[in-house]
Amino acid sequence: LKMVYSFIEGNAKMKALLGGKGANLAEMTRTGLPVPPGFTITTDACHAFFKAGNRISEDLQQQIQLGLKQLEREKGQIFGDPSHPLLVSVRSGSITSMPGMMDTILNLGLNDETVKGLVALTNNDRFAYDCYRRLIQMFGSVVMGIEAFNFERLLIRLKKNLGVGQDQEVTADGWRQLIAEYKLCVKAYSGVDFPQNVYDQLKLAVEAVFKSWHNHRAQVYRKINRIPDEQGTAVNVQSMVFGNMGDDCGTGVVFTRNPSSGENALFGEYLINAQGEDVVAGVRTPQTIETLNDKLPEIYDQLERVCKQLEQHYKDMQDIEFTVENGKLYVLQTRNGKRNAQAALKMAVDLVLEGVISREDALQRIEVSHLDQLLHRGIDESAVTDVLAVGLPASPGAAIGVVAFDADTAEEWHKSGKQVILVRSETTPEDIHGVLAAEGVLTSRGGMTSHAAVVARGMGKPCVCGCEGVRIDLQARRMFAGERIIEEGDWITLDGVSGRVIRGAVPLKEATVTNELLQILQWADQTRKLRVYANADNPEDAEIARGFGAEGIGLCRTEHMFFAPSRLAVMQRMIMADSLEERKAALDQLLPMQQFDFEGIFRAMDGLPVTIRLLDPPLHEFLPNANELQQKLQSTDSEEEKAQLQQMIRKVNALHESNPMLGQRGCRLGIVYPEIYDMQIEAIFKAASVCMDEGVAVHPEIMIPLVGDASELRILRELVDDVAEQVLSADKNGENKYKVGTMIEVPRAALTARQIAAHADFFSFGTNDLTQMTFGYSRDDAEGKFLSHYLDKKLLPHNPFQVLDSEGVGQLIELAVTAGRALKPTLKTGICGEHGGDKDSIAFCHQTGLDYVSCSPYRIPMARIAAAQAAI
Ligand code: ADP
Ligand code: MG
Ligand code: MG
Repeated sequence: LKMVYSFIEGNAKMKALLGGKGANLAEMTRTGLPVPPGFTITTDACHAFFKAGNRISEDLQQQIQLGLKQLEREKGQIFGDPSHPLLVSVRSGSITSMPGMMDTILNLGLNDETVKGLVALTNNDRFAYDCYRRLIQMFGSVVMGIEAFNFERLLIRLKKNLGVGQDQEVTADGWRQLIAEYKLCVKAYSGVDFPQNVYDQLKLAVEAVFKSWHNHRAQVYRKINRIPDEQGTAVNVQSMVFGNMGDDCGTGVVFTRNPSSGENALFGEYLINAQGEDVVAGVRTPQTIETLNDKLPEIYDQLERVCKQLEQHYKDMQDIEFTVENGKLYVLQTRNGKRNAQAALKMAVDLVLEGVISREDALQRIEVSHLDQLLHRGIDESAVTDVLAVGLPASPGAAIGVVAFDADTAEEWHKSGKQVILVRSETTPEDIHGVLAAEGVLTSRGGMTSHAAVVARGMGKPCVCGCEGVRIDLQARRMFAGERIIEEGDWITLDGVSGRVIRGAVPLKEATVTNELLQILQWADQTRKLRVYANADNPEDAEIARGFGAEGIGLCRTEHMFFAPSRLAVMQRMIMADSLEERKAALDQLLPMQQFDFEGIFRAMDGLPVTIRLLDPPLHEFLPNANELQQKLQSTDSEEEKAQLQQMIRKVNALHESNPMLGQRGCRLGIVYPEIYDMQIEAIFKAASVCMDEGVAVHPEIMIPLVGDASELRILRELVDDVAEQVLSADKNGENKYKVGTMIEVPRAALTARQIAAHADFFSFGTNDLTQMTFGYSRDDAEGKFLSHYLDKKLLPHNPFQVLDSEGVGQLIELAVTAGRALKPTLKTGICGEHGGDKDSIAFCHQTGLDYVSCSPYRIPMARIAAAQAAI
């Protein structure tokens, strides 16, 4: 097995074998750029090394020798030969770039003899001994595991004794003295001498770089960036070039475009008379790249040309390491540069306009998860001082406000003109008015799909949840973050992108929809097949959604309309009614309220479909908590109130279910209490009628939730048609004036889709419930209990409530689409639920041939791009 490749043998496509650095060094060599020659030891060799219990095989040992021989011939130097010493660097190079996470050693091949040779060859003893002391320090810390500060300390003392401030002021004698001290230091901390045998140096260095794959920071980085542990690293052995030989030498890093603004101008830093790591290590403050034009103009011109060439070659912005040795430029590394969201958009658009890449390439380059940074307000990082705790980044954006510990307080303060942050241990549907009033939400419990997270995302409000670092003492109206205390009414700042909770009011930066984003979205719209709808429950959200390009509403949850305090009371009266008359009286009061909401939504969505879901949650969700009622009962003296409370408690208990999510909800409610659905349908059609009179083009689509058997949809569809008949005049009730459809969210509905399609104009996959019921995982409990454990153990690849499980739940969707369309080719199909805003799930919807995805308003731009990416 070939485990060593010279740079002239490889190319950019061989990343898996040669690692990113090695493949790109080879590619640059091939295209004739000035790359110091060298060779790459493959990732295969790394795997073999781990398998053999961290040992380099005889075979690999020999291949390395051969690689070295070839390199010696190319350079006309010999490794370990005092008269013409070859010096090399040993550089890590993983497949996926992990900047700075692993180890590199420079100036290998120096020892007490070869350093003298280097002095003779270069006539520069200061330089030669500078290289040698660097080698002992790097080798000592990377290979021999001696803490770097043991060396730093000696260097600082030396400079103090010599009375100099900068490394480059140290003389050759100074370095010789330091080298002697470094050698003692190595011996003292590791028990062995610094190896004088250069072959030992090389072998130990290669082993150390392999092993650095397992160092702590590399492991953490891989976990955060989801890089597989199995990848392993390649090792590059490269002949040295020297940026530390004098003032016509230097080393630096340059980006071909500005990584934070996207501007098409070189961006970077360099140091004169320095080597490799000095730039990052911060020994000296580097100078900006423009000043290189004054210092070494020819080099600057050449660097500019190299940047252009590499950018054209890789068709993307490059992050390049270079070194100048005696007025000659060398390129030591190139890779696609990291960038922020706005810069990514600008570069993608610019590269299309410059004719470098196609629109499809540009679309595919957009990392949609980064768009969140742009579409929401952000924090002014320079003003962040006191981070109290970090929770889950549940809903992006930044918010400042004073802390309120319950929904009523939040609402009251909001009304009086204050900005508030609602802080709860967790939220329930009863807190909805508090969420509405708040700038942002913080919870100490609950995951990314908890109630607070879902509701806040839907409203586009920043939310940090599951923030276990804060402890709320509701009694004392204060919360604790470690030792620190935050009283109710104190200012805090939430960052929903990073999950940080920050003390005080940090200044915020407004979101902007830039021209580049608009351009990308326009290209996306020309490419995608899926339509993009919004989940919106009120006219304001509908308008926002339309502004972001929604082509309809895919889910309007009517229950949210009942949670406003004035309405909740009527709703509770309706639920607790003892007779049909009483219930109807309450419903009569609710009807105009619903009608009003629908009118607003229809107007906002003029000309576009609006899918309205009839009441879905179990009724008990609208009633207060039984324990709280009991407490109130105990503390009241008024007989009247006591009687009222007792009645409420009776009703709450009567409605109690052991499994409410599998209980009296969805269409089951509508079938047992037809008057509720009747009222809702009437409100929809009355609103439609009013709007049509105003000249608004209304396209209502009534959606029946939780159907599991065709018969349920059959009788509820009859109800809709009956009410339409009564409410709408003949000219408003023609063919195709409205649609009736169902959510497919119970597995049995998917399995019997053919029968259900007979009564449906559309299917909307409610993938939240469908996932819950297909897995048998309670959505409200799974995350806190076992799901995170499953994810840690890699039993599941993703949280199925965030990323659609295409293997299982996806099969049900495919089956239902096929069966439904077999019976009714015009059947409209779509998905609503959290997955509608996830890019992998959107890709699945595209592949399955759905007509639309529906997601929260703020995710619509992202969904438009993801849908285009899926179609390319
Ligand atoms: P990292 O992945 O941490 O950037 P590198 O392997 O790229 O590590 O090397 C670290 C530094 O050493 C870089 O600044 C690089 O340019 C420099 N360097 C590496 N090899 C050589 C070489 N053969 N000659 C001169 N400088 C080198
Ligand atoms: Mg590097
Ligand atoms: Mg549902």
